[in-house]
Amino acid sequence: MHPVTGTAARFWFATILIFVFGMMAGAAQAATPQQWVKSFWPTAKAAGISYATYQAALGNFTPDPEVLKKASNQAEFTQKIWLYLHNAVSERRIITGRALLGQYGPLLTKIEKTYGVDRHVVVAIWGMESTYGDVLNNPAIVKGTIRSLATLAYQGGSRAKFGRTQLVAALKIVQQGDIPINRMTGSWAGAMGHTQFIPTTYAAYAVDFDGDGKRDIWNNIGDALASTANYLKKSGWQGGATWGYEVVAPKGFNYKLASSERTLAAWQKLGLKRPGGKPFPRAGESARLFAPAGAGGPAFLLIKNFKVIKRYNNADSYALAVGHLSDRLRGGGPFTVDWPDSDLRLSDSELVKVQELLAQRGLYSGDIDGNIGSGSRAAIMSYQETVGVEADGQVSQKLLEMLQSGK
Ligand code: CA
Repeated sequence: MHPVTGTAARFWFATILIFVFGMMAGAAQAATPQQWVKSFWPTAKAAGISYATYQAALGNFTPDPEVLKKASNQAEFTQKIWLYLHNAVSERRIITGRALLGQYGPLLTKIEKTYGVDRHVVVAIWGMESTYGDVLNNPAIVKGTIRSLATLAYQGGSRAKFGRTQLVAALKIVQQGDIPINRMTGSWAGAMGHTQFIPTTYAAYAVDFDGDGKRDIWNNIGDALASTANYLKKSGWQGGATWGYEVVAPKGFNYKLASSERTLAAWQKLGLKRPGGKPFPRAGESARLFAPAGAGGPAFLLIKNFKVIKRYNNADSYALAVGHLSDRLRGGGPFTVDWPDSDLRLSDSELVKVQELLAQRGLYSGDIDGNIGSGSRAAIMSYQETVGVEADGQVSQKLLEMLQSGK
């Protein structure tokens, strides 16, 4: 093909594409919120929703601009797993969790007996999902679930299908009377209550543990924690077993073996040992080796329950945080092998200091709570840019020292 012809053809092809997509985008935006509510009614009706419920839930629907903003912000800040773990399994979360284990002891005994799921894991998930319910009191995070999901459904795009499915499930929940519409709250993406269940997960796994006729994962700790235990049990939780073991590898160990599944006994033959040489309780169990920092950090043999935890949130980092937090809540200590970048680890009070110093510079306006989330990382990046160092958004001793030196 002649190069000029090719360029012209590409030009026209692109022009037509832009025109067609413009038409499609125009068509999607043409519906007003009220027109969209009307157009979605047959879908809700077919799912068994009454007109009264539908009107009460969506009669005055307006899209939530904050949900639109969050949904379009696709950039996920990827963090090294050890930095994620440091924030997830923080001193504060361990201390609070241990106190709650005491406070809810009799309730947790009952839940453990009913579902056969270790209370420390249930409480660890509670801590990971909603910081033991703390996020439910944060008006900046908590939103009306029907409005959030309707916004996702209304705006079209990649989250529209999720929005429609979850909206129908949410309408069913309010119709059943589990929670009034105005108290059905959750994250912008529809994760609700202490357990952060999306509506379809709620429909399948939430339970009414106190028997008052409502599955109240928003206000009733028993319902919430029993729902978590029920979800784990239905996902295949092995009662009396743990999630995995920290192991120490011999010098020169071949980490390429990590992709294979073998029995604990077979891994032991390859030289992997628990710290202190404790035996594996059931050596015949199948396990996967997880060594995210290779020879430079701790390694783990993961058994069945690790996969079950991943049903809650399908990420190794999340499941390792839940597993490790559960061990810490039981009274266990930190991993015996250090992660790389140990200079990056700061104590809770040092993290608070970092936030204070960023706030003093007008770069940070969020909570001064030592929780380094996306707001804190954005502030760190702005600061790093102003002082001319690599803007990676990481907290470190070096960063704290720089802030303290008045730079
Ligand atoms: Ca209940």
